[in-house]
Amino acid sequence: VSAAPEIGIRREVRDSPAYELVPERGRVKLNQNESPWDVPETIKAEVCRRLSASAWNRYPQEGVRRLRERLAEPFGVPSDGIVLASGSNLALEWIAAAATGPGRRVLIPAPSFALYRPYGEIFGGAVEEIPLGPDLAYDPGRWCDAIERARPSLAILCIPNNPTGSDLDDASVERIVAAAAPGIVLIDEAYRDFSPRDRRGLLSRHENVILLRTFSKAFAAAGLRIGYLVARPDVAREIGKLAPPFHASVFTVAAAETLLDHRDHFESRIRALLAERERFIGRLSAIPGVRVMPTAANFFLAEVARGDDESARRRAKEVAEALRARGILVRIPDRRLAGMLRINVGTPDEDDALVEGLAEILRG
Ligand code: PMP
Repeated sequence: VSAAPEIGIRREVRDSPAYELVPERGRVKLNQNESPWDVPETIKAEVCRRLSASAWNRYPQEGVRRLRERLAEPFGVPSDGIVLASGSNLALEWIAAAATGPGRRVLIPAPSFALYRPYGEIFGGAVEEIPLGPDLAYDPGRWCDAIERARPSLAILCIPNNPTGSDLDDASVERIVAAAAPGIVLIDEAYRDFSPRDRRGLLSRHENVILLRTFSKAFAAAGLRIGYLVARPDVAREIGKLAPPFHASVFTVAAAETLLDHRDHFESRIRALLAERERFIGRLSAIPGVRVMPTAANFFLAEVARGDDESARRRAKEVAEALRARGILVRIPDRRLAGMLRINVGTPDEDDALVEGLAEILRG
């Protein structure tokens, strides 16, 4: 509970938890679902050349127009269907500001990305969690029932879901989107490049869909903070009102355009990562006492402890700490995922270090 003064700061803000950012150092970093491969030097140099060639004294206009057109093209929407943001998290806040508020309901998956609840609540909305079913799979029937009952103004699907890696088939997504209309369905596609599903067609069939994309994962650019949403222009225009003028900078434009020019490079990295994911999971699953959950993302949950929830939770935390003592960082997920660790795919060397460290720790 915050001690901030009651008069100036709204109750929803005071009640909201701060996103915990404890910088951790580790030689093997498998805890933030980042790309293990940095953008190559040659591509970075190209970004810098482009940045240098752009006018810094002028507000960004022409470049932003060009970038929005380029981002819109593969979705078959006009360029005003794109809203750029410094990281997709910021676009999430704008969507919440536009679509939630007192008397409005928000449905989110559970367990899922930690920011959905605070953004659903901070403007005064009421958040309802829709639990994943057995095996941590989405339960479309449960979503449709909750939508009929609650008539949410915003429903968020995270596909593949963070932290479980859960996928959801196209027909179920379509049912949920149709049931929720005219409420907005936001599909957070931060990890979509790691799954074969393509939901772009939803935009032509449904006016209440927003797709959320980021350069932070498959494009290896978490440090650059580039994200965007895609929607029908009439919806995107409303959300765009929450974005400050000239929000996307010449830096965003130089970086995003260059990364898109090198799409082939990033696509080959995705293929390499998926192959490595299978090898990594194969090795981990061979460790006695380890069970890896199915995933459609660049990360997965690994169960490393069983028993009652409290002791499984405690044991998983001990395992994570023992890994950290070896310089290997993994994530302790939501407390409902007792006994599990969230691990992202790294380079083969990093992944081998984790496999060997974990096997040693579990051997006791
Ligand atoms: N959505 C999900 C589901 C995520 O896991 C993350 C990264 N943690 C984000 C969005 C954040 O993306 P960005 O870096 O674009 O703000």
